Formats: sequence, structure tokens, C-alpha cells
Amino acid sequence: MSTNWEYDCIVIGAGVQGSFTAYQLAEKKQKTLLLEQFILPHTRGSSHGQTRIIRKAYEQGFYTHMMEESYELWAQLEQEAGVKLYRQTGLLVMGPEDSQSYQLYKNNLQKNKVPMAILNRDTFSQHIPNVNLAVGDGAVVDITAGVLYADRALKTVQRQFEKLGGVIRDNEKVTDIKPGPVVTVSTSAGVYRAKSVVITAGPWANKLLAHTGLQLPLKVVKVNVYYWKEKVPGTYDVKQRFPCFLLTECEETKYHIYGLPSNEYPGLMKICYHIGGETDPDERDKQTDRSDIDILQRIIARCFPGLVPEPAVVESCMYTMTPDQHFVLDRHPSHSNIVFGAGFSGHGFKFGPIIGKLLCELILGEVPSYDLSPFRIRRFQDQTKSAL
Ligand SMILES: Cc1cc2nc3c(=O)[nH]c(=O)nc-3n(C[C@H](O)[C@H](O)[C@H](O)COP(=O)(O)OP(=O)(O)OC[C@H]3O[C@@H](n4cnc5c(N)ncnc54)[C@H](O)[C@@H]3O)c2cc1C
Repeated sequence: MSTNWEYDCIVIGAGVQGSFTAYQLAEKKQKTLLLEQFILPHTRGSSHGQTRIIRKAYEQGFYTHMMEESYELWAQLEQEAGVKLYRQTGLLVMGPEDSQSYQLYKNNLQKNKVPMAILNRDTFSQHIPNVNLAVGDGAVVDITAGVLYADRALKTVQRQFEKLGGVIRDNEKVTDIKPGPVVTVSTSAGVYRAKSVVITAGPWANKLLAHTGLQLPLKVVKVNVYYWKEKVPGTYDVKQRFPCFLLTECEETKYHIYGLPSNEYPGLMKICYHIGGETDPDERDKQTDRSDIDILQRIIARCFPGLVPEPAVVESCMYTMTPDQHFVLDRHPSHSNIVFGAGFSGHGFKFGPIIGKLLCELILGEVPSYDLSPFRIRRFQDQTKSAL
């Protein structure tokens, strides 16, 4: 049962972040093993489903900068694999005109010269039919935004990794990590040794990091993914170029609400609240909190008159939240050949190619392409537990 292999790097977790990291490592001629606990593809982590939003609209400029290159890398992968992964729809950002959040989105788009359109009350209904702009709300469109085909993207990057000679072993849960100059990784099926390890285990990050004596302030939440039926099929359809949207957080909503045009299920639009109930990732479906539904029904009845304000389909996904909702990209404080990417806080998919590039740079000891200070663990100070 036990097999011994030598690898330059073992990547633990074949979600979007681990798959892109493995791919980048293989591109750099590193002999790489990608380990996944479930049979691929699966629906039990954070990267499954047909669609994700890709956008440059962010409150923080550092994300907008990273997205510039991320778009290029997504396009490169599309070209290399001959597969379409992105569809441009634009992203409509709506929120109280005088709120800090709305102003940050708008100013950041302007400052970074992202192609955009500011809609006033008169032009709004011309461009965005069947949506009611709330009194006092502003509206701005990030024209570069769109939909990423998530499941297809994961399959594509994993296939490209294998084409480069990378090895994927799914249905192999990592049960132990022994740090050292050569790291020993034990799984349900064998033992592997590598010069370095990348941990990209999504909601299971802390369970894996526990083997290395480190715990991060991460909170795993189950998110209800709601699909809402169009009263007239086609009203909010991707083929009619209906945009993705984001309602910024405000006094009423506390967290943002986002939606995607109907696409994967004909006649159904995906609209969710950026929040969820805390859960253990191995017991996700025991979390049955649906307190998000009231707010969604209220907003949908008010802003989307063409939708039936009753969910037609409900699916599940998980977010791994950090206290400030920024990612964690860092090297282990005691073991320099262990690197991790975690806490993507429900907005990490669009960054997959960049996260892969950055984690690869960290593991190879190269200067990271971006300032990683917003993502380092030292920002948590008192909240990070290290047993070492
Ligand atoms: C409902 C929903 C909507 C979202 N919308 C967007 C969006 O519009 N735009 C956007 O950019 N982002 C979005 N996100 C966020 C994005 O999908 C996540 O940030 C991203 O998928 C996180 O990827 P990951 O690789 O870190 O985690 P995961 O996809 O969970 O991957 C981790 C992998 O590690 C494996 N693993 C864990 N433990 C072990 C072990 N012991 N041994 C082996 N393997 C292990 C897991 O099985 C899993 O496959 C959304 C997320 C959700 C849930």
C-alpha cells in the first residue's frame, strides 16, 4: 500500500488555487504531485459549480491591479487549451450613492482607468431593463467583468497540468504532514516525500495546518446558492447580455448581494447573499441556516420585478473567511519549504491564475510579483496560534 516518490513539490488540495499552483509549478519544470481527498470532480469544497463572477471592480486598488494580469492569464489558458472559459457581460454595481462602499467601487474603477459607465436615473432603465434602481442609489458598470465557467476551468487547468507531466492523485486524503528539509506527506493510500509542500485545502486549511503546528483565524461558513425563476424566460439571460450585478453593503444588507444572469439553468438567475452559517467542512449539510432568505426576497421583490421571489433551486458551497476578508498567502513561519494559500473569503476564484503564480514564486524563493503585505499572516498577530 505504501509508495515512496520523490517530488520537487506536493500541492495539497485540487480546488482552483491548488490546481493553478500545480500548473504553474509544472510550467517551471518542477516535478509536482497534486493530492485531492475526493474523487474529481466533486462538489464538497468551494470551487464547484458552473459559474463565478470575474471583475476588476473592487473597493481596494490592490485587487484591481492583480486582476489586470489575472485576465491575461485566464485568456492565455483559454488559448493554450482551446477552451472558452470567460464570457463578458459587464458587472452592474449598485449602492447608496453617498455610502463609503459604493464610492470606493466607483472611484477605484475611475482611478485605475477600468472601462466603465456611470448610469444616471434616466439612462439606467435604457441600459438595464427590468431592474429598479432604489431611490438614492448610484449605478456604475465595470465593462470588463463577466462570467467564468468554473467547473470547466478546473478541468482545463488540471488537464494542462497533466499535459506538462504533473501527477494528480484524487481520492487520497492527506492524513499527516511531517515537516523537515524533505517533507513527508502521508495519505490514505501512501507516503510521499518532497522538497516543498503547498497547502491549498480551502475550508480544510486549518485541519491540514494543524499537522505543522499552525492555526489561522479562519471561519468556515456554508453558503446557500439560490436560483430564482424568471417570470418571463429570457428576461435576465446571459444571451441577452444581461450583466452580473453587485449590491454594495449598506445599512439594510450589512454584506453585499451578488447575482449572475441566467445561464447554467435556463430561466433561473443565481442571486446570493455574501454570508453564511458557520460549519465544520466535514459536516456542511448539518448547517441548515436559511436566515439569508428574508433579505434576498425583499431585495428581489424590490429590484428585480421579473423574478419570482421564491428560490427555485438551492445548492451549497463554502467560504473560508478571514477577519478582514483578505486572502492568506504566506510561507510557514517555522518551515520555509511549506507555503499556504487560504481564507479566500468567497471571492478568490477569479484570482486563481495569479494565486497560482504567487504561491509558485513563494515556494521557489522568487520575489513575489505583487506586494503580499495585505495577505501575510503577521497582520493577525494575536489571532495566529503557533505551537512551534
Ligand atoms: C457560492 C459561492 C460563490 C462564489 N462566487 C465567487 C465569484 O463570483 N467570484 C470569485 O472570484 N469567487 C467566488 N467564490 C469564491 C471562490 O469560489 C473560492 O474562493 C475558491 O473556489 C476557493 O478555492 P480553494 O482552492 O481555496 O478551495 P477549494 O475549492 O475548497 O479546494 C480545496 C481542496 O482541498 C481538498 N482537501 C482538503 N483537505 C484535504 C486533505 N486532507 N487531503 C487532500 N485534499 C484535501 C478539498 O477536497 C478541496 O478540493 C464563490 C464561492 C462560493 C462558495
